[in-house]
Amino acid sequence: MSTEKTGDSDINQISRRDFLKISALGFGALAFGGRLMAYPSEMVPGTEIDFLSDHALWYGDRSRKVALMTYDDDGSKENISEVLDVYKTIGGKTSFFVTGAWLQKSENSEVAQRIVEDGHVLGCHGFQHVNFPSLSEKDMQGQFSDFMNTAQQVVPGYKIRYFRPPGGSQNKTVLRKAAEYGMRTVIWTLGSGGLDDDTTKRVVNNINPGWIVLSHSTRHYDVHSAGDIVKEIEDKGYSLESLDTGLDRAEYWHERASDKRTFGGTKYVSNSK
Ligand SMILES: [Zn+2]
Repeated sequence: MSTEKTGDSDINQISRRDFLKISALGFGALAFGGRLMAYPSEMVPGTEIDFLSDHALWYGDRSRKVALMTYDDDGSKENISEVLDVYKTIGGKTSFFVTGAWLQKSENSEVAQRIVEDGHVLGCHGFQHVNFPSLSEKDMQGQFSDFMNTAQQVVPGYKIRYFRPPGGSQNKTVLRKAAEYGMRTVIWTLGSGGLDDDTTKRVVNNINPGWIVLSHSTRHYDVHSAGDIVKEIEDKGYSLESLDTGLDRAEYWHERASDKRTFGGTKYVSNSK
């Protein structure tokens, strides 16, 4: 269930707590209009950065019959709405990875907010769809901070926890930089293809407990066969879950560290359930 945190006291409490934490670490912080603003890397403790960068994900929880569908790229709002309708009707949760450039377009705001309000994960696919390992550290940082700033505008208070590198291309520096922004890098176990009518079979026949499936919100069969795929996976006894619940519990930093931090103070603060 999503928990709504709309009270000012919550905002102040969170700000004070994070401010104290950050101050204790010796970092500077700036307050704008009562809301704490700080660079993401300053908000993530070093131990959490170590954990996140050492735990890139290829799988979810393999001890349960759970399937983690993911949808990459900048699908039209019609495509993404169609996928959201499927999950709304059939049930289950999923995860979307979009670029900051997509998120920045005003025509996409509503569907981005619906992803979050429907309880799915909204993740980072870079600000632009670029090959991260070939970027300088400075450019990599620019990609992440531009994405985060855009996300704060569109889904204020929602914490972006996952990064899917375009093409799955990553290296140690990419994992580390993503972690500095509080994000886990997520690869995948199985690609759906999405471009031919074997897509449904490919996913349904091959799915295994805890597998993460790569699909695209831009590909015909991933979008228009989403209903069949979701239904048939459920018929096989799987539950469809997002990255927020479908991982091995030991993979959740906030469970390990009993870190119940939330960010911001809006209704979007619901993704640590
Ligand atoms: Zn992509």
